[in-house]
Amino acid sequence: MSAYDIIIAGAGPVGCTLAERCATQLNWKVLLIDKRGHLAGNCHDRPHENGVLIHQYGPHYFRTNNKQLLDYLSQFTEWVPGNYFVTSYAKGEYFPFPINLLTLAQFFKKDSLTPDEALALLAEKREPIENPKNSEEFVLSRVGREMYETFYLGYTLKQWDMHPRDLATSVCGRIPVRLNTDCRYVDHEFQCTPKEGFTALFTKMTNHPNIEIRLNTDYKTISDEAPVKVYTGPVDEYFDYCYGKLPWRSLAFDFKAVDQEFVQPNVQINYSNDYDYTRTVEIKHVTRQEHPQTVISYEYPKAEGDPYYPIPTADSQQLYERYKQLAEQETEQHEVYFCGRLAEYKYFNTDEVLEHALSTFERIKNKHGH
Ligand SMILES: Cc1cc2nc3c(=O)[nH]c(=O)nc-3n(C[C@H](O)[C@H](O)[C@H](O)COP(=O)(O)OP(=O)(O)OC[C@H]3O[C@@H](n4cnc5c(N)ncnc54)[C@H](O)[C@@H]3O)c2cc1C
Repeated sequence: MSAYDIIIAGAGPVGCTLAERCATQLNWKVLLIDKRGHLAGNCHDRPHENGVLIHQYGPHYFRTNNKQLLDYLSQFTEWVPGNYFVTSYAKGEYFPFPINLLTLAQFFKKDSLTPDEALALLAEKREPIENPKNSEEFVLSRVGREMYETFYLGYTLKQWDMHPRDLATSVCGRIPVRLNTDCRYVDHEFQCTPKEGFTALFTKMTNHPNIEIRLNTDYKTISDEAPVKVYTGPVDEYFDYCYGKLPWRSLAFDFKAVDQEFVQPNVQINYSNDYDYTRTVEIKHVTRQEHPQTVISYEYPKAEGDPYYPIPTADSQQLYERYKQLAEQETEQHEVYFCGRLAEYKYFNTDEVLEHALSTFERIKNKHGH
């Protein structure tokens, strides 16, 4: 007899959600482990030395169109309304980003633009590329060269250390161009942030007598057994990199405390063509914490370090497909379920990964929950 019904490696959003579901819905004994010293994975937030709540691994703007998901999470947190506004700094000015009518008017020095006028202007600026095959062609065919070079080219080079012409259309293509004056960063119906933060949310979610949490513990080092396992760490690491390493892009964060209430006009400023960092983030705009001081985070993309963004190329996708086959065999033969950003080599937003965790729970319940 094992002491646990399930062992879950990784106490990020996926691991915490699966732990909560198995503990409360199946009455299973759960062992939840993480090699880091905290819960919430990359959504982890904590107070800086000056007491200002910061997002340790980059800003997390929670949003979803899924009311059921929001209701599920609302058992564990209250919310504050999302305040997700991004500006892009270029040529000494701050432009609303993603591009909208206000951005276009400011950039092309017009007093204002109607949607029809903006369409006519974009038609003039666009490059005639029938079927764009990469991010550069995609953006050129959408907004033309001046805006491409001002807002996309430098940012993409810094972020990926790759030219937009070597990246899939989806990389720059996922950023909308809006023919209205909506300055919000994303379009989702529900945009809100956990009132006490993400770590508090996931702590409450996993605070259950059936759940044992072990931090600072690597999956590879434990000798405990259970009939079902979930692995949310990097899939290539699980298989000892037998086909080679999957490529990831990493980031360094430099947090600077400032002795004033706010520094930036909005939470995030992108720097396409200035400085080595890509963006500065003042998360206090989002957390709405009342505090006389603030903290600014400077983000520097880099090749080595914690895995943050899967690199979207055909080669990396092919390599992942080989690991995916191994993972499927492992599920089939040893009841190890691979779920999440690292385990599936996919950039999921938090709402998407949580939906995925909930559907993985249904899969586990249907197979083992009797
Ligand atoms: C810079 C950045 C910004 C983001 N911004 C947003 C945003 O604005 N909005 C949004 O919705 N989403 C955002 N996301 C995405 C969000 O972080 C992810 O969707 C979410 O964290 C994925 O959850 P997960 O549980 O799959 O993985 P993770 O959060 O990565 O958690 C996995 C956990 O597994 C642990 N682990 C790994 N290997 C082992 C092992 N061998 N043994 C034990 N533990 C292990 C890790 O330590 C980690 O804690 C952002 C991500 C990044 C990187």
